[in-house]
Amino acid sequence: MARPDLLAQTTAKHTEGLRRGFDHWPRSADPPPALGDRRWTEDLILSTWLLAAGEDPGGREHRVGRSGGGFDALSFVALPESQWLSAGAPIDTSLELNRRPYDPKIQIPIPWYGAGMSYGSVSEQVMLSRAMAAERWSTFTSTGEGGYPASLVPYRRHVITQIATGLFGVREETIQRARIVEFKYAQGAKPGLGGHLLGDKTTVAVARMRESLPWVSLFSPFPFHSVYSVEDHRKHVDWVKTVNPDALVVVKVSTPTDIDMVALGSYYAGAHILQVDGSYGGTGAAPEIAKKNIAMPVELAIPKVHRYLSAEGVRDEIVVLASGGLRTADDIAKAIALGADGAVLGTAELVAIGCTRCKNCERGRGCPFGLTTTDPELSLLIDPAWGAERISNLYGAFQARLREILRQLGLSRIGELRGRTDLLRYSQPKG
Ligand code: SF4
Repeated sequence: MARPDLLAQTTAKHTEGLRRGFDHWPRSADPPPALGDRRWTEDLILSTWLLAAGEDPGGREHRVGRSGGGFDALSFVALPESQWLSAGAPIDTSLELNRRPYDPKIQIPIPWYGAGMSYGSVSEQVMLSRAMAAERWSTFTSTGEGGYPASLVPYRRHVITQIATGLFGVREETIQRARIVEFKYAQGAKPGLGGHLLGDKTTVAVARMRESLPWVSLFSPFPFHSVYSVEDHRKHVDWVKTVNPDALVVVKVSTPTDIDMVALGSYYAGAHILQVDGSYGGTGAAPEIAKKNIAMPVELAIPKVHRYLSAEGVRDEIVVLASGGLRTADDIAKAIALGADGAVLGTAELVAIGCTRCKNCERGRGCPFGLTTTDPELSLLIDPAWGAERISNLYGAFQARLREILRQLGLSRIGELRGRTDLLRYSQPKG
């Protein structure tokens, strides 16, 4: 555990450093800002950090970035105030994660949960922070593909067990203890490339968890060589349901051009939740060439999936979650208006606990803030209780913003926003 006084100093210095940077770093995209990039702008990084501290981001832009496209080019229609709900009107942001007539019902109070980040890609302290926040909000976080650290077991009702092609740390007990089990077939940041953990992050503890040798690079090949058809896919779901009959099954896929067919296949294979992972996500460990050039942006993939499943008459039997670079409550709302039921968040949680998007994630001691590291000393920069508090605060701010968006659209339930593209406008943001 980090010393509280050291932690307080570190937190204050981080805030001060970010604020000072704002006074000096260029705000325009040309030349590029020293902090962040066009998607995760300096404004978004600082405002997310402040929201996580329970502070008002002030006049900083905390809703959109400056990419010039996608979510940044979409805004909600401005309805006359006479059509708004009254201030304080109850607005339901909950999401039911099982739409099938069988298997347990699991409702989360906010339409998102935490994305898979493996032990190895991030520290155990970060995983704990996320699990504690998930418990506080009665939602979930995912183990990612690096196994299930024992410290997460007390939070098991809010931890999703992920199974990826490497099968690292996958055991019967890790499937049996989960209420939700996730198959990661592909990742939007690097579709077709599998997963990789470079040797200097494979510490003795990480290697033990992954049943491997320390200091060797570990790869999860692409694809699952046991799945080449919907029937194979069904066998995977049956495997999980045999080991844990009560588990809901998530299928995480990237966004190929035939994502609509993939979605329908996942439905017929028995998945309860389809996570459509677009191309903007991933930590700095994902290769840039892959992040920007292979998968389809999630803004295009979601309506395609929503329309196809609707036309096939099965849309209301499967939950579709959007992921891959959703940064803000506005992004979540726009994804839902495009046809998703909810979202899966990753990077936003890391920014809440100090990530500045410097993109040194893949190296063992590369992360200056102790997030994407397995180094035992560097990891101590994150105190899980502190991290959980910050992520919880961010969730609260996102829920409040989501409610405000719904209120101004005259909607009293988040489900009423799904597929309402008529409430969106394309507006080219200032560059
Ligand atoms: S190295 Fe750390 S601060 Fe930099 S992008 Fe990765 S997680 Fe964020």
